[in-house]
Amino acid sequence: MTKTIQDPVSVLSGVGAKRVEALNELGIVTIEDLLTHYPFRYEDLTVKAIDEIEDNEKVVLEGVAISDGVVSHFGRKRNRLTFRINCDHVIVTVTFFNQPFLQKQIQAGKELKVFGKWDINRKQLNGMKLLSVSGDNQNSEAIYHTTKKIRQSTLLNLIKQAWGAYHDLIVDTLPDALLNEYNLLPMADTIYQMHFPENEEFTEKARYSVIFREFFYYQLKLGWRKKQLKNSQLGSSLDYDVMKLKEFFTTLPYELTDAQKRVVNEVCKDLKSPGQMFRLIQGDVGSGKTVVAAAAILAAKTDGKQTAFMAPTEILATQHKESLDEMFEQMDVTVALLTGSTKKKEKDQILMDLEKGEIDCIVGTHALIQEGVNYHSLSLVITDEQHRFGVNQRKALREKGVNPDVLFMTATPIPRTLSITAFGEMDVSIIDEMPKGRKAISTYWIRPKHFERLMSFVKKELAKKHQVYVISPLIEESETMDLENVTELHATYQSALGPHVKVGLLHGKMPPAEKEDVMSRFQDNKLHVLVSTTVIEVGVNVPNSTLMIIHDADRFGLAQLHQLRGRVGRGSEESFCILIADPKGEKGVERMKIVTETTDGFVLSEKDLEMRGAGDMFGFKQSGIPEFKIADLVEDSDILEEARVQAILLMNKTQFYEDNDYTKLRQEIGIKIDQQPILD
Ligand code: ADP
Ligand code: MG
Repeated sequence: MTKTIQDPVSVLSGVGAKRVEALNELGIVTIEDLLTHYPFRYEDLTVKAIDEIEDNEKVVLEGVAISDGVVSHFGRKRNRLTFRINCDHVIVTVTFFNQPFLQKQIQAGKELKVFGKWDINRKQLNGMKLLSVSGDNQNSEAIYHTTKKIRQSTLLNLIKQAWGAYHDLIVDTLPDALLNEYNLLPMADTIYQMHFPENEEFTEKARYSVIFREFFYYQLKLGWRKKQLKNSQLGSSLDYDVMKLKEFFTTLPYELTDAQKRVVNEVCKDLKSPGQMFRLIQGDVGSGKTVVAAAAILAAKTDGKQTAFMAPTEILATQHKESLDEMFEQMDVTVALLTGSTKKKEKDQILMDLEKGEIDCIVGTHALIQEGVNYHSLSLVITDEQHRFGVNQRKALREKGVNPDVLFMTATPIPRTLSITAFGEMDVSIIDEMPKGRKAISTYWIRPKHFERLMSFVKKELAKKHQVYVISPLIEESETMDLENVTELHATYQSALGPHVKVGLLHGKMPPAEKEDVMSRFQDNKLHVLVSTTVIEVGVNVPNSTLMIIHDADRFGLAQLHQLRGRVGRGSEESFCILIADPKGEKGVERMKIVTETTDGFVLSEKDLEMRGAGDMFGFKQSGIPEFKIADLVEDSDILEEARVQAILLMNKTQFYEDNDYTKLRQEIGIKIDQQPILD
């Protein structure tokens, strides 16, 4: 058999069934996996002079042993190896705990190099590792993520072995032009420097080279997918009635903002084109995304096509149905609502009408595209708050055998680095302008001890017939505790405000019908205060609410706080958001301050990403962001931008391949594909 970089690790000597298993646990199956199992940091192994070392510093000392190693045992299992070395005329005692096997390497007169932790008072080195002295000019050592089953040194030795036997077979798949332009190390050199660093400059360059490749290949794939969608004839080409759309806009009680107009145009252009639309609309809370959706629904309807409008919760679906009915009051568009709480009889009727084409738009949760729901002519799917839907839903659509245009809407501004990574194959429209006349929401941060003063403020708002939201603390680990919390908080508010104030309670564990009942009573101002968990977070629209109170606000992400705050300020009255928090660390204080200082969702989302990191902000698996080996979306965002520009440039130069053959594309742009690529 010919040797390839895809050979299983078992070809290496010293790798039996057990070790294969241990390596597999680290995600290492092939030689390629092993060679690209990169270290996450490096240990500095430069030899230091005694007087330069600080207490507790980890250092390498070099000297001549002036005694043999002596092992003494204490307790049943513990032992200590001790010897002394002369480092440039300073005598240092070295001790190794529980490594008696090192004894045979230590004899008086022998030159030694020891890595360990310095104890400045006792002039003693607590040895961690014995290094080889001769012919080793390495001054830093790679440190790997590993498990209990396989030691650092074993891993490094296997990598050495693999490198020795396979480095000739490592192929650089990156086009030469790119290697030159970005001064990248060729793949083989990259791998070598990552594992066996010669100096800091090379290590840095190797890291850059790895990260660039990771981003580049990923962006290339996204670009490719986008091109496929754009050019395919799979989507539908809507021949909609422009006059009807214009008429629709004149029936609205307001004029669209310039941003809304721009986005409507972008959407309409997609609807008209034969390729499948894949567009994400980002617009801050209250920027008016619903009317853009309505325009798309109407456009589809004028060509006899249906729309499915999905929302993440029933509350939200219900609200969308109501807004659409209101907007379409003077237009002939039939909108139906289908949720888990729709009665069987009504549901059967809706499903029948849908199949006959008598319903133009069906609003509901994502069940709309899953369970035996049959359409007459579905050609548009709109999802609100799409980050709650995953890649799987997109797949479900395709598997249903339909290729509708897809419009995603989100009020969670997504930082650019995430947006071009997670949604790189989509087009993005941004509504970056608020409708005129909106009052800013004043945000204040208070400590819990000021609760009573807050209550008098609440009473003032209530006296103006305004309504109030109260959000209970988020306890991620436990839904039961969430429930206890919100129930207790409800009681607290009810007793603080008195019996004449109606305080409602809303949480995720309530049966849908009950939730709906609470929401509709709040909507009608029959409930004055609503104590809720974050189920209220997305989209809910009760313009008469002017005060949002968030308990333990430091437990929420910035983006989430912003979302919650967006529930108020939806009417013409001045609105407030009160964050109650006693943050422990500096970071918590900083977070509270940022939220009080800006109402720009994009600024907040960038900060959120910076402070929390990408993994926390978005569930990776959910979003479709790949887990890069060492690239970090936040720290390496500048490399991401460069790699993306190159990927797009190359993509634009290539032709479109009807047969969807990625290999041809790679050939055309000069990725050498005759051999097995690394890091594809
Ligand atoms: P979101 O983007 O948060 O979904 P909505 O679509 O719910 O925002 O719109 C929020 C409110 O703003 C709604 O009451 C809507 O009627 C109103 N609205 C939307 N566009 C405009 C506009 N151009 N001028 C004034 N009000 C608008
Ligand atoms: Mg909305």
